[in-house]
Amino acid sequence: MVKTRFAPSPTGYLHIGGARTALFSWAFARKHGGKFVLRIEDTDLERSTQQSVQAILDGMAWLGLDYDEGPYYQMQRLSRYQEVAERLLSQGLAYRCYASKEELDTLREQQRLAGLKPRYDGRWRDSRQTPPAGVTPVVRFKTPREGYAVFDDLVKGKISVANHELDDLVLLRSDGTPTYNFGVVLDDLDMGITHVIRGDDHVNNTPRQINILKALGVTIPQYAHVPMILGADGERLSKRHGAVSVMHYRDQGYLPEALINYLARLGWSHGDEEIFSQEQLVEWFDLAAINRSPAKFNPEKLTWLNQHYLKVANDIQLAELVTPFLLERKYSLPGEENLLRIVNLLKERVNTVEELADASAYFFQAIEAPEALRTQYFTAEIRPVLAYLIDRLAQIEWKRQTIHQEIKQTVSFHKLKFPNLAMPLRVMVTGAAHTPAIDAVLELIGKEETLRRLRDQLNTFPQ
Ligand code: GLU
Repeated sequence: MVKTRFAPSPTGYLHIGGARTALFSWAFARKHGGKFVLRIEDTDLERSTQQSVQAILDGMAWLGLDYDEGPYYQMQRLSRYQEVAERLLSQGLAYRCYASKEELDTLREQQRLAGLKPRYDGRWRDSRQTPPAGVTPVVRFKTPREGYAVFDDLVKGKISVANHELDDLVLLRSDGTPTYNFGVVLDDLDMGITHVIRGDDHVNNTPRQINILKALGVTIPQYAHVPMILGADGERLSKRHGAVSVMHYRDQGYLPEALINYLARLGWSHGDEEIFSQEQLVEWFDLAAINRSPAKFNPEKLTWLNQHYLKVANDIQLAELVTPFLLERKYSLPGEENLLRIVNLLKERVNTVEELADASAYFFQAIEAPEALRTQYFTAEIRPVLAYLIDRLAQIEWKRQTIHQEIKQTVSFHKLKFPNLAMPLRVMVTGAAHTPAIDAVLELIGKEETLRRLRDQLNTFPQ
């Protein structure tokens, strides 16, 4: 059975790159009816935080990336790493190294001056020296000196590294915590991971991990290293490129469907398909279709997708999503029916739920029009026409159709064109030049409030 995992280090928020790795691992497991595991790699005690664990869990839940096992925490598995390190020691496949930090620094400096690649020289590998007193050793792996570590990467193809290129890596630090490579190997083994799908920043670690697995005499999983994500400038995607945290997109009112769709297309494709659901992704997902070259992060495309998903979203879902944004703006919420109508009127005109909340402002409060619009539309000529319209509106039953009729009749009575009146009317009531159909907007704002705003504004017109 296929089993994949996502293994983030909780040292920050869940970022775009991590979420994409998670999505690919998840989609591969789902496609093959397998299992998906979440594992938190929290052995970097200085940089790991509970807050960041929570951010990862929240981000995955928001994206709908459900896992079948976990979250496992490496810090809860310390005794297992220690036990296996002991076993490797007793089998002569690992050794204790007592070299101090100063000693290793000196070694590195000497190698650098000699133009060599800095690497541990194996000084304790076969040493019969008496260990220095008071030093807690690290445990190092006896990397084979001959041969090659070879694997068939499911994205990159065959990769082969000569073992003499690799040094004797640390398995256990002196405080008893495992290094990344050792922890990953035992976790992937114990959790029965069949396919390791991860960022290609780890491709250099894979030969080391394979050597450890070989020493343990166990089956080696398959590997798929996904090329990284670049910013528009071709540099590796980072905070410099703006928002790279998944939760930032949630907070701005992106829909998870849009982000999932976007992440899926970031370095993977299925023909020319641009818009597809999570279910279609699962059906189509295939490691062979992952690009071999890095993907470029394009926020405009994400926004475009979000706009698409907003357009097709159901109004009830959107009303729920926009509610916290409205409350944050201290608007008093309209009844459910009116909120649904506001959402329906605006959803095709905005890119995010946050923009939807912004765009709805004039439904909740009078908005002062900018000076340029006032000069353009608030003219002495149109003033009597508006006064006439206000009188008529005051007498009607407040419905979209009747409002529309009154505007039309006023226009034809004064031998004007519809926009001659609709534009100043719109600017007076909403403060904006672009809104959905004015009759629909006025209906929702309500009779009393519309008339109040119109009368207020008419007073500011030139005579
Ligand atoms: N904890 C590693 C990271 O966040 C995961 C590496 C892996 O997937 O093996 O980069």
